[in-house]
Amino acid sequence: MDYKGNVDRVLYDRDILAERVAEVGRQIKADFAGKDLVVVAVLKGAFVFAADLIRAVDLPMAVDFAEIISYGEGTETTEEVVLTKDVGVNVKGRDVLVVEDIVDTGLTTAFLVDHLRIRDPRRVDVCALLYKPAKQRVEVPLRYVCFEVGDVFAVGYGLDYAGRYRNLPEIVTLKELEREE
Ligand code: 5GP
Repeated sequence: MDYKGNVDRVLYDRDILAERVAEVGRQIKADFAGKDLVVVAVLKGAFVFAADLIRAVDLPMAVDFAEIISYGEGTETTEEVVLTKDVGVNVKGRDVLVVEDIVDTGLTTAFLVDHLRIRDPRRVDVCALLYKPAKQRVEVPLRYVCFEVGDVFAVGYGLDYAGRYRNLPEIVTLKELEREE
């Protein structure tokens, strides 16, 4: 079966995504002009979003990646957060913008922000593609949000379910969350 057969609802199509990413890109440009900007994209979920976002920010910047594993293969947040790839660039005294796929409980993002702050950046801000305010449990310096969502499980545009659906160009919900054991 192709992916289409399991799509329940299209939450954000390509046009809406492109429009909103361009808008947030312009805000970031206005806010970070003249700053020493380091964008840290969080793997794996934010890789598609980050690729579009950085090209919508017409400013000099460094780009790096961190990888955090927190979700396992299901849809519920686990309390355990593991940093599997650290940022390599020096962030001391610089303006760091963490690009996240989703801020849900906030635990994953807060973990990375705390980890980065130890290295003495000038400031750390977060830009999230999706934000689930109802589920937030810890504070994160969330400065930019593309879309606020309710209690749905979203896939596509980099977001996976059980390792799949990242390559869907739209953000959708699924009819069935079949777990591969
Ligand atoms: P948090 O630590 O904020 O609870 O969880 C953040 C991570 O959980 C996200 O980076 C993402 O990987 C995963 N996550 C949370 N909600 C969703 C969702 O609706 N869809 C997908 N695919 N992942 C989600």
